[in-house]
Parts: sequence; structure tokens; C-alpha cells
Amino acid sequence: MIVKEGKSVFKGVAIGKIFVYRKAQKAVSNEQVEDTAAELERYEAAKGKALEQLKGLYEKALRDVGEEEAMIFDVHQMLLDDLDYNDSIHSIIENDKMNAEYAVFMTCEQFSVMFLSMDDDYMRGRAADVKDISERVISILNGTQVSPEAMPEPVIILAEDLAPSETVQFDKSKLLSIVTQKGSANSHTAILARTMNIPSLVMTDIEPSLEYHGRTAIVDGFAGLIYIDPDEETMAKMIEKKGKADAQRALLQEMKGKETVTKSGKHIHLYSNIGGVQDVDAVLENDSEGIGLFRSEFLYLGCDDYPSEEVQFEAYKTVLSRMGGKKVIIRTLDIGADKQIDYFDLPKEENPALGFRAIRICLTREEVFRTQLRALLRASAYGTLSIMFPMIISVKEIVRIKEIVEEVRLELERENISVGDFELGIMIETPAAAVISDQLAPLVDFFSIGSNDLTQYTLAIDRQNQSLDAFFDPHHEAILRLIQMTCENAHKHGAWCGICGELGADMELTAKFIQMGIDELSVSPGYTLELRKRIREC
Ligand code: PEP
Ligand code: MG
Repeated sequence: MIVKEGKSVFKGVAIGKIFVYRKAQKAVSNEQVEDTAAELERYEAAKGKALEQLKGLYEKALRDVGEEEAMIFDVHQMLLDDLDYNDSIHSIIENDKMNAEYAVFMTCEQFSVMFLSMDDDYMRGRAADVKDISERVISILNGTQVSPEAMPEPVIILAEDLAPSETVQFDKSKLLSIVTQKGSANSHTAILARTMNIPSLVMTDIEPSLEYHGRTAIVDGFAGLIYIDPDEETMAKMIEKKGKADAQRALLQEMKGKETVTKSGKHIHLYSNIGGVQDVDAVLENDSEGIGLFRSEFLYLGCDDYPSEEVQFEAYKTVLSRMGGKKVIIRTLDIGADKQIDYFDLPKEENPALGFRAIRICLTREEVFRTQLRALLRASAYGTLSIMFPMIISVKEIVRIKEIVEEVRLELERENISVGDFELGIMIETPAAAVISDQLAPLVDFFSIGSNDLTQYTLAIDRQNQSLDAFFDPHHEAILRLIQMTCENAHKHGAWCGICGELGADMELTAKFIQMGIDELSVSPGYTLELRKRIREC
């Protein structure tokens, strides 16, 4: 039995097989082969697997985002089955006696050049698709390809690190736990694991070596441990621990339907943080009162190109409709820093957390912002919507945002498209915003405190940097004072004030937040019932 230690980001016990996730290898091996028939067979098997995955992706996209977006995976299947493409690969293997990876790579190069030299824009665009399908086949061939669709049963993912764009690709029903060698407890990948309600570890003392692939493991999110090939005694102990955790969760079910109210009768709005339409089930299951933070950027992270107004409208409308009139706060695009999206083609930055991100991108690339606002305003007719803007630092930004929102509203009105009522609010996640919250409050309906970034910027500690973990202290007096000040300033000007950063779920601070006058706490759905219990004890 091997035991390794990590930092837990969500409590619970997961038992299952390890799936070693490795990023696709960029370098392609270039080798002569003797047995070309076996090599051809290897290629055909990889192609078959890729086609199966693409079919799965088509069906998933069809379910999640609609037919228009799903079509790309249909096109990919056709390209992969293309006669000329396959003839070229076969010829390189049979005639040049080269390995399959190299044959796919060379064919990809030739086809990309051919597509790129065409006059037609549509055909030129196919170069990227050929590259995409070829990379998929190569990574299956060299064993680096790991996609959620390839998982036969729910697994424990073991990886060096995961970017948010990789984590969103996983099919949640196939995930028992995520264990990473790197990462930090405040990263978006950790936040996603919490939203998914799965026991997970970061900063784990383990190399994601393929030797672990397929081996049985137990992740103990209470103790921050992973056991590989557990012995009988450990397995029995962990099954018991899991049983107790399940029983405790079952006990919390009695909190469903109860009011989130303190002993002295103050009602606290208890909302959920989500990353996409698929998380609404967890929100409803946990009897949350609303959605306090829909990180809309995950919608962008899950796409290969800018999501259209229609795709966004459908997603927002679905969330609003499914919440049946309960409040839904959707945050506009917050990319940059650790949330990078290739198709935005953003410049490389020395210091991305202090760089071109969130509202700065939206106010610079207004067409992207306006598309999202049109989708949001159209969706506002289907429920109780609040729109929230991230990374605000000045009055000037809010004034400009409100002008743009008004222009978009008038534009829709001219097009006879109905728009409902909606609140406008901002995230307080920079010290600048907290310090001038008295000036910002009169301009908005609400504040939502993003304690993750507020901690990062107040303490000057990169939230992604695992070696600074010991210094990252969200309980720091400076942060608590900024929260208190923000809340007081909101109330002085008739705005309400909540917390949607991870600190909102920190039950050691619940009583303090209530004393400060915090009106709302928005947390991962899995924390809802426990936090309700805690608030009722305050
Ligand atoms: C925050 O910064 O606290 C927050 C909620 O936003 P994110 O974690 O997505 O940066
Ligand atoms: Mg933030």
C-alpha cells in the first residue's frame, strides 16, 4: 500500500480506480517500423477510438449547448473518415515504413497547408479541424490521450495539474475525485471540484506516473490522504468512514425546506455558486435559495470559439427557467489570469493576475461584452436575473458599464425583444473597490465580495502559487476590515452586500459575517445544508 499526503479542498471519501491524466504530448516520435501490418492495425484502432469519442462529444454538446455547436464534432468525424486523409496515412506507414504517430502528423501537416492555401474562408478554417482530429489520434496512439469520454467508469483523476479549461471538459458523472501534484486550494480547479462536490486533493506528494493508472485507490478528503492499493484493514476503515460521512450528509437533509435564519430572527440569503447549466441540479437538490454566482466564463472555457449570443441566451435562459423565479446572479465574463482561452488570443503577460482580465477585457473588446449583455438581457425575461461585473476598481468603469447596458437595452427594445427587470451589482474583489465602496454603492443594487481575489490582492499573494500557501490567510485582519467596511458602505447607500468567494463557506467566520451585517452568502452547492445549520445556530 502506498500512502501520499496532499491538501484537501473538499471533504469526503472516494474509492475507485486511478485514471492518470496527462496533457497531450507535443513532440511526435519518428521511428521506422518492421511490422507495417501491425502498425496499420494500431492506427485503425486509435482512429476507431477517436471516432467513438467524437460521437460522444457530439451527443454531449447536443445536450448541453445545442445542435449548432455540436455540428463541429460531426464535421470532425467526417474528416477523420476522409478517404484521402486515410490513404495518406496508410501510404506513409506501408511505403515509408514509418510509425503511425509520424504518419498522422505528416498527413496533418500536408492537409493543413492545403486547406490554408485555399481562397475560401470556410475551407481555410478546416486546417484547424484537421489539426484537432490529428492531435486526438496521436495522443491516443502515444497513450497521452485522456478524455472523460474514454473513462469506462467513474474514476479518481491523478494529474500533475489541471487548468480550468481542462477541468470543465470532464464529464462529472465520471469523476470520483481529483488529485493533483501541483495546484492550490484557491485555484479555479479546486473551486470546480468543490462545486462538483467531490473529495479532492491538491499539492499532493505524488508523481502522476502511468504506473498508477488503473490501480485501486482511496482518497480521504478529511485527512488529505490518498491510499494506493489499500490493504484490507485500510479499505475496511475507509468504507466505514465513507459510510459515516454519507450518514452525516443524510442527517443534513433535515435542513431542507427550513428557513436560513439566525436565532435572533435575521434571515440570511443562502445562495449557490455554479459554473454552468449542469450545476443547477446540485443547487436544487441542496435546496438553495438562489444562485449567487454563475461564473459565466466557464461557458466560454468549454467552447472552441466565442459562444454566440444564441448559445449564451439558451444557457442563461435555461438556468433562470430551472430556478423558477429564484434569484440568479450571473457574473459577466471573468477570464485572464489562470482562466486562459486560446481563441481570445490574449497577449502573453509577465503578471497575468495583475493584467488584462475580466471587465478590462470587456470594456476594451466591447463587441464581446455586448454579445454577452444582449444574451443576458434577453434571458432576463425568463426569471429573476441580477448581473454582476468582476474586477471593478473605479467609478468610471461602472458609469461606462451602465451606459453600455442601457444602449443594449434600447437596441433590444427597438428590435421588439422583451427584456425583464434586472439588478446590477459588482464584485468587490480588489482592495481599491473595497476602499472606495462608499462611492461605488450609490451606483449599484448590490455588492458581492470576491474573497478569493480580495485576499490575493490585499495580501499580495498569488492565489495560484502553492509555495505561498502557508502565507495565504483569508482570516487576515486586513481582509476582515475591508469586508466590514464594504458591508457598512453598501447599507449606507441602500445596496445589499453578500460574499461569493470561498470565505463565505468558512463556518468559523459565519457568526462574524452575520455580526457585520452580511445579507447573503453564496457557496458551493454541497455546503448549503451545513451552512444553513450553522446559521441557524448563530
Ligand atoms: C473571488 O475572487 O472571490 C471570486 C468569487 O471570483 P473567482 O474565484 O472566480 O475569481
Ligand atoms: Mg475573482
